Amino acid sequence: MNKPIQVTRSSMPSFEEYIEEIKGMWDSHWLTNMGVKHKELQSRLSDYLDISNITLFTNGHLALECAISALNLTGEVITTPFTFASTTHAIVRNGLEPVFCDINPNDYTIDADKLEDLITEKTSAIIPVHVYGNVCNVNVIEKIARKYNLKVIYDAAHAFGVKVNGLGIANFGDISMFSFHATKVFNTIEGGAVIFKNSSLRKILNDIKNFGITGPESVEYIGGNAKMNEFQAAMGICNLRHVDKEIEKRKVIVEKYVERLSNVYGIKLCKPQIGVRKNYAYFPVVFDGYKLNRDEIFEKLKENNIFARKYFYPLTNSYECYKGRFDVKKTPVAEYIANRVLTLPLYADLPVDDVDRICDIIL
Ligand SMILES: *Cc1c(COP(=O)(O)O)cnc(C)c1O
Repeated sequence: MNKPIQVTRSSMPSFEEYIEEIKGMWDSHWLTNMGVKHKELQSRLSDYLDISNITLFTNGHLALECAISALNLTGEVITTPFTFASTTHAIVRNGLEPVFCDINPNDYTIDADKLEDLITEKTSAIIPVHVYGNVCNVNVIEKIARKYNLKVIYDAAHAFGVKVNGLGIANFGDISMFSFHATKVFNTIEGGAVIFKNSSLRKILNDIKNFGITGPESVEYIGGNAKMNEFQAAMGICNLRHVDKEIEKRKVIVEKYVERLSNVYGIKLCKPQIGVRKNYAYFPVVFDGYKLNRDEIFEKLKENNIFARKYFYPLTNSYECYKGRFDVKKTPVAEYIANRVLTLPLYADLPVDDVDRICDIIL
């Protein structure tokens, strides 16, 4: 039996590179609370991401929760069910009502043409997801947000390094959230960031992630603890040096998959988006009318010690914890895709021979 192939594998710098980066901490004894590594990573990321306002978090989920809280949203938030648990939970945990918009069948992002019908007096924001690193219909979303005076927060957890006509993805909307989780294209072990357009948000975001403490004797917000520590930031500094090379390697893997799996009856791949610099974060395949269905392919691969992932299945609006609250029939495209999609193993060091073997099994 071949050794197991997981759906992903975390990028890591060499042991020596990381040790060099964290050595100084044994002199400073400064381990968290916005230390030197934290500051350095923050500034390197603003350069890399081509943005001016950024604040780091201990993970992407809390970054999103804090972003929602900082904007003081009320009532209803329009979002997508075709996402990771985090997006929907962050809305609900802020005491807001998610309203689910269907996705478009081409890139699986929120269907911007269906947004307007879902807007009510209570709507305060739209939270779309650049799912798989595919770029949402940012122009239409912006137009609608302006017309109805809504905030836009992008869940950009999948979209690190993506550019649209040369512009960093986080330049769209009021806020974008990145996840730097171990499984993402760029990782800080666990970690995340909020990128924001209006620089007056800096103070509240920084306060909310530190218990709402605003001064030595004042606590103005009911904040939580979501600070990134120095070991995370050091990992980020190291990984950032290599991320472009990692994305290049991912590209080679994806090109191999595309070569083998395109033009096969019943297999649907995402088409490249015009003007978009991709990050090759995921390789979703939709089995629609293929000789085997998604679950059968999933099992076949598993028998061969290859672990693909049904990502995103189930939809967030069908979770047990939301039982009876939402109707998945209102997002039929999302339901259709969720029942047929499989993301195949993809990481920078996945050998091309293994990609061939995975394709042989599928075909
Ligand atoms: C990973 C992810 C998150 C959450 O990020 P964490 O860093 O794991 O907390 C949120 N949304 C999406 C779409 C994700 O994939």
